[in-house]
Amino acid sequence: MSLELSRKATQVKPSSTLVITAKAKAMKAEGIDIVGFGAGEPDFDTPANIKDAAKKALDDGFTKYTPAPGTVELKEAVCKKFKERNNLDYAPNQIVISNGGKHSLCNVFQAILNPGDEVIIPAPYWLTYPETVKLCDGTPVYIKTDASTGYKATAEQIAAACTENTKALILCTPSNPTGMVYTKDELEAIAKVAIEKDFYVVADEMYEYLVYDGAEHVSIGSLGDEIYKRTITCSGLSKSYAMTGWRLGFTGTPVEIAKVMGSIQSHQTSNVNSITQKAALEALTGPQEEVEEMRKSFERRRNLMGDLLSEMKYVKFVKPQGAFYYFVDLSDAFGKEYKGKKIESAADAAAILIEDYHVVIVPCADFGAPECFRLSYAISDDDIKKGLGRLSQFLDDLK
Ligand code: PLP
Repeated sequence: MSLELSRKATQVKPSSTLVITAKAKAMKAEGIDIVGFGAGEPDFDTPANIKDAAKKALDDGFTKYTPAPGTVELKEAVCKKFKERNNLDYAPNQIVISNGGKHSLCNVFQAILNPGDEVIIPAPYWLTYPETVKLCDGTPVYIKTDASTGYKATAEQIAAACTENTKALILCTPSNPTGMVYTKDELEAIAKVAIEKDFYVVADEMYEYLVYDGAEHVSIGSLGDEIYKRTITCSGLSKSYAMTGWRLGFTGTPVEIAKVMGSIQSHQTSNVNSITQKAALEALTGPQEEVEEMRKSFERRRNLMGDLLSEMKYVKFVKPQGAFYYFVDLSDAFGKEYKGKKIESAADAAAILIEDYHVVIVPCADFGAPECFRLSYAISDDDIKKGLGRLSQFLDDLK
């Protein structure tokens, strides 16, 4: 007998963004005037029509189990959204409604991976991807991207990373953490590789509504029958509808994958909260003006942050076209000193910024880019100005 814990589970790192956000909250609770650029969620409240639908669901007694992969009416609404917004033809038996985008990804990788299967992950990546792949017995294979391609993986890089064990590619557009948006041409070239080498594309489109400057979000699965068959389209309401706490994500997949995901979910969590499902139905089918207003606010803040960052020393960035993050390269400051301590990574800067300047940034070592940090602009204009003023002061104070 042994009291050893699961080796697979204990190798999982806690989410460093949640750790940083918790630290900022704790400092705030102590009365410290802290500006947090760590937010991975909109600062807006969920629109009232969505909340009202949830209240009505409660009052109507819609409080029982639903089918594990979601109610028929919600799956139909998701199909309609996929058709109208993404030009993707899915039937309700191809849809699985899960407890947030993270849960969708867990279901996906449990459904498709066998031990030894490789999953290509372009770096910088959202830090949850490698941990989820590993938990599901897969092996992450990283591709390093940089500013020269706008932090986007090219079809050539992806082809070069393929082996006989390649099972899937994770493609996040608009991207967390870089804010980059893949163009149709880039996606067509990637789709060609996926078809030739015969692997799945797990398309994480969680930020699909949040694109700026007229950039167009394109779903790779819409680019022809062959790529459609290999695409697992993942999206949800958390970011676009300010519904992070409600916990609802959804996928469109080939029928056989949806079936397996539904079975897994039926044992692990059953259905998403019935009330959340009613709220999601209203989100997808009700008025969309407020969603567009939130998008416009993010666009304004993106411009504000870009203007202020471009006046600062040492920082380099590619202006994001989507999501709500700036991805900033700090390597020009490496070797400089603050109070006798050499800055050698974004994590070094983050530690000083939180303690001495009361600003929280997210160092991106866990995102596959230790030289960079991420700034969220899902905070007020005033906080953006105040926080970036402090960041600028820190950079000026470096010797
Ligand atoms: N995908 C990306 C790229 C994300 O950044 C997030 C959340 O941060 C998610 C998926 C998951 O969102 P949730 O589980 O909150 O619905």
